[in-house]
Amino acid sequence: MAENCRLCPVACGADRKNARGYCGAGDKILVAKYGLHPYEEPCISYKNGSGTVFFGGCALRCAFCQNFALSRAQTGKQLGEKELADIFYELEARGAENINLVTAAHFVPALVRTFKLYRPKIPVVWNTHSYETAAALEAIDPYIDIYLPDLKYFSPKVSARYTGREDYFRVAAPAVAFMAKRKADIRGGKMYAGCIVRHLVLPLCVNDSLELIRWFLSLHSGAYFSLMGQYTPCGDIAAFPELQRKLTPREYKKAEDFLLSSGYENIFLQALGAANERFIPDFSDRTDTLF
Ligand code: SF4
Repeated sequence: MAENCRLCPVACGADRKNARGYCGAGDKILVAKYGLHPYEEPCISYKNGSGTVFFGGCALRCAFCQNFALSRAQTGKQLGEKELADIFYELEARGAENINLVTAAHFVPALVRTFKLYRPKIPVVWNTHSYETAAALEAIDPYIDIYLPDLKYFSPKVSARYTGREDYFRVAAPAVAFMAKRKADIRGGKMYAGCIVRHLVLPLCVNDSLELIRWFLSLHSGAYFSLMGQYTPCGDIAAFPELQRKLTPREYKKAEDFLLSSGYENIFLQALGAANERFIPDFSDRTDTLF
């Protein structure tokens, strides 16, 4: 990986010892911020919050990314494996319900080395855009208890428009199918193992959402499905007029009704009130908390 990186489906071939790849990552782990996150699904945040670690860089680069400040820029600190293990340890000591690794697919080899140094005693969550290779997923799988994959786009036209990558669904579908096999273990309202597939409904893209829901249901996996309505205009969306508004109640309801009418029971539905900037973490240096 270090000299000719092919870790993710972009396969940009960067020499990461001397330069950054398309994802923005060099040879060191980049952590933008970490802390206790109270606004994940209730079984993930549970009582004390999810011990969330936001990594810098991203290989998917959605135009409307709500974490734009860290997915594009070199926000945060470059760390070695020992320093990342110390963060895991600190979050555990602060009472975190789990260790939640957000968009870390471009650091898989370093993460594997970190887990060999220190295995947290609380569940580890893989929070991903799902644009990842089977090889990377198989490498990290032994260290993961809970999968939290996004399922973002069905149509190649939609994914090409917002990420420049028309192959999103072709890559993400087998990745999500793999993660959805993780057997659920939920006790007393807290998830210890399992998979929650997340989908964010986008303005003017409800039909894409219905295709994704249809595909997810066809897996018969038993995984949870979290339908999200929190889209808030963010990121680099000047060229996308349709993204410059929140979702309408009618758009969200169409996706919600479709999911509910399937009779599938393992679902989470988000109130549209969650479409608010106050639920977007503060990635500035001003605070030592996320919100
Ligand atoms: S992980 Fe980053 S550097 Fe490696 S192939 Fe993907 S985009 Fe390129």
